[in-house]
Parts: sequence; C-alpha cells; structure tokens
Amino acid sequence: MTLRIERAQLDEMREHGEQTYPHECCGALVGDLNGAGDKTVKSVVRCGNTRTDSPRNRYGIEASELIRIQRDAALAGQSIIGFYHSHPDCPAKWSATDLKEAHWTGCSYVITSVENGRASMTNSFLLVGAERGKHFEEEAIDVNDSAQAEP
Ligand SMILES: [Zn+2]
Repeated sequence: MTLRIERAQLDEMREHGEQTYPHECCGALVGDLNGAGDKTVKSVVRCGNTRTDSPRNRYGIEASELIRIQRDAALAGQSIIGFYHSHPDCPAKWSATDLKEAHWTGCSYVITSVENGRASMTNSFLLVGAERGKHFEEEAIDVNDSAQAEP
C-alpha cells in the first residue's frame, strides 16, 4: 500500500500545519484508489477545525463539509482517499484519540509534526479493519518530484 502524492500537494498540507500552529490543521485528500490499494492524491482540501474546545491536540471536520467534499469528488470521478492533520510540538505518530475518531476504513491518515511552527516529519497511516478491531498500519508515501524537475 502506497500513498502517491505530488511534492506541491505534500507541501500544501505541511504549510497548512505551519499556518494554524499552535493549533491543529485538518483536511481531506481526494483522488483515485486502484485495485491494489494504492492511492493517488489529486487534490488537498483544507477544512476548518471544529474542535475549538481543544484545537491544540484535537481535530474535527464538519459533517456538512465532508459531504460537500465527497459530492464534488464523486462528480470528478474520484473519492475521499484520506485525511490529514498536524501535531503541534508532538511526533508524527497517531494517538489513541486519532484511532478512536478514525472511521474511514481503507483511508490514509496523514500526520505532520509541526515543531516550533515548522513542519518536520510527515507520516501516513492506513486504517485497517472493521470498527471493532480497527487499527493503523504504516503506509509508504511516494512523493513525485517530477512537476518541479524541469528548470
Ligand atoms: Zn492526531
């Protein structure tokens, strides 16, 4: 399982985390899912963090916003293939809360660590299994630099 993404889209997620620091940013990844389980990101969609009660270490996406993103993706023949959020001054590793609040089996959950306002590590985790017994597996991120290769 691999998450394929353009460098510019990866940077977009990481910059979003820097901009919302010290709060968590969040958003959705829209793209294609192939038969082997590999995903290709076509667009990064920023979302507002609904967790105003604890925005430094929680994130939430409005249901209505998700429905709109899913509808727009379907119109383009794509789907929601993942979500991303940031961890201000914490490692790019999923938390117990992240697992508890993750419900989209087969989707990628991308986490960027933002330390002192600067994005550092970015990791992706695949949500596997049914609601009972669900878990995260580490997922490779394949970054495509070709768009910037030409001088
Ligand atoms: Zn988290």
